[in-house]
Amino acid sequence: MEIVTTKEAVRAAVREWRRQGESVGLVPTMGYLHAGHASLMRRARAENGRVVASVFVNPMQFGPAEDLDSYPRDPERDAALCAEMGVDLLFRPDPAEMYGRDFRSYVDVSGLTEGLCGRSRPVHFRGVCTVVCKLMGIVRPDRAYFGQKDAQQLAVVRRMAEDLDLGVQVVGCPIVREPDGLAMSSRNTYLSAEERQAALVLSRAVRHGRELAESGERDAAAVAGAMRAIIEREPLARVDYVEVVDARTIRPQTELKRPVLGAVAVFIGRTRLIDNFILE
Ligand code: AMP
Repeated sequence: MEIVTTKEAVRAAVREWRRQGESVGLVPTMGYLHAGHASLMRRARAENGRVVASVFVNPMQFGPAEDLDSYPRDPERDAALCAEMGVDLLFRPDPAEMYGRDFRSYVDVSGLTEGLCGRSRPVHFRGVCTVVCKLMGIVRPDRAYFGQKDAQQLAVVRRMAEDLDLGVQVVGCPIVREPDGLAMSSRNTYLSAEERQAALVLSRAVRHGRELAESGERDAAAVAGAMRAIIEREPLARVDYVEVVDARTIRPQTELKRPVLGAVAVFIGRTRLIDNFILE
């Protein structure tokens, strides 16, 4: 596996692969990699001749009061995991390489980004879309891999790739969980032992919501209310949102209709965690 820090080095490698007729898969991440990221890499490995992974903690997608400076980092462990997963090229740019001196262009996906995470993180999706669009422009992959863990992000990136004719197939991958149900996240490392236990309310709420929806409950508010009630029983938890929306458009549903996304965001202490279910 080769590790590079410049766009030009990525372009050179991809040019050579294309000359050999290889297909290319891209896995964008912010590092501090875990089994969720590994599942994306494994899928990319299986479906493409070559795999590029990126590790870039993107300042543009963090709000001023968020955890940009404390976001966990472990470059050596990340590189080892990428190598183990069969990644061919690991792209680790710094912000200056990514954005240059006089950056002025942004990608906004309207309609899908105002609700859910966009409400409490107003600049988040603009940052995500801009950096993902840039990564797609640098790598020009056939396919790019995203986790359903960030279900709104997946819907937004799909919309962007289609609207802007980026020519990249966006592949969604299932949520990878710890044995006790907690969705894997780099931010889980912020949790104390007590908070780690309390954080199980997210997966419990999501599982219950899914069961209700699967067993024929058609009232979206009833499903959301049942999920909220589970979370509110946990003293260390504070709900950011609990919503039932269309999984493609992120529009709120009153009568539950597939594809449906039941999504929660919850503060456990100071750490904001998300989880969800999708019924296709
Ligand atoms: P991040 O490093 O948090 O920006 O995540 C990079 C990619 O990994 C995103 O597409 C995430 O949705 C995906 N991802 C993160 N956690 C998980 C998980 N537990 N299961 C599946 N995919 C995940």
